[in-house]
Amino acid sequence: MNQEIIERVDAIRTRLHNAAYERWGRVPELIAVSKTVAPERVNEVLSAGVTRLGENRVQEILEKMPYLDASFQIDLIGRLQTNKVKYIIDKVGMIQSLDRENLAQEIDRRAQQHRIVMPVLVQVNIGREPQKGGVDEEDLFAFVRRCAALPGLKIQGLMAVMPDLENINELRPYFVRMRQLFEALRCEAIEGTDIRDLSMGMSGDYELAAEEGATIVRVGSAVFGSRA
Ligand SMILES: *Cc1c(COP(=O)(O)O)cnc(C)c1O
Repeated sequence: MNQEIIERVDAIRTRLHNAAYERWGRVPELIAVSKTVAPERVNEVLSAGVTRLGENRVQEILEKMPYLDASFQIDLIGRLQTNKVKYIIDKVGMIQSLDRENLAQEIDRRAQQHRIVMPVLVQVNIGREPQKGGVDEEDLFAFVRRCAALPGLKIQGLMAVMPDLENINELRPYFVRMRQLFEALRCEAIEGTDIRDLSMGMSGDYELAAEEGATIVRVGSAVFGSRA
């Protein structure tokens, strides 16, 4: 047990509740982003009731997994190389960073080999930043339609990494736009999809994301302390 982590998680949950509950009647799920954090320390979040982790590198997942408590679900939240899908297909609970059709096809192929259906989120490049992954919003619906028929994956929603802006209040329109895309996609009810998750918000802006309708927030440094 680590009292400090428990207190940090409790404080984040309180803020999420205050930001979201009145408006949305629910509170976003907290994913603890454990990249660069040693497994013994990651395991401490279990005592705070966090059972879902976010990791952004395949290699790190493979190295840490033997030491992580088996009750965690790990979500892949970083850019995924097609040739690495085979290493993590039976180890992660969700892939949040689907952004290309050949990646969807490879996830589909490997999932079928394991007789599973992999839950995925489509990453949207909401800030239109060339250095970031994600599909552009105008391509989103066509992309989802092309991937939705693949039986080895289930598109469950959208994920975004916000642009780095000095003033976090300037991020609000991006969160709002993500929610609009999410709701439009849900209303479209494309066959083969089950749209329910909107993953957005990190340590610096999770309250804003919660206010604007996130169902999942991915919080690293505010849980574990700043990364080296
Ligand atoms: C690192 C990371 C986070 C968490 O970042 P913090 O600022 O430490 O909360 C969230 N999402 C993705 C995709 C990340 O790579």
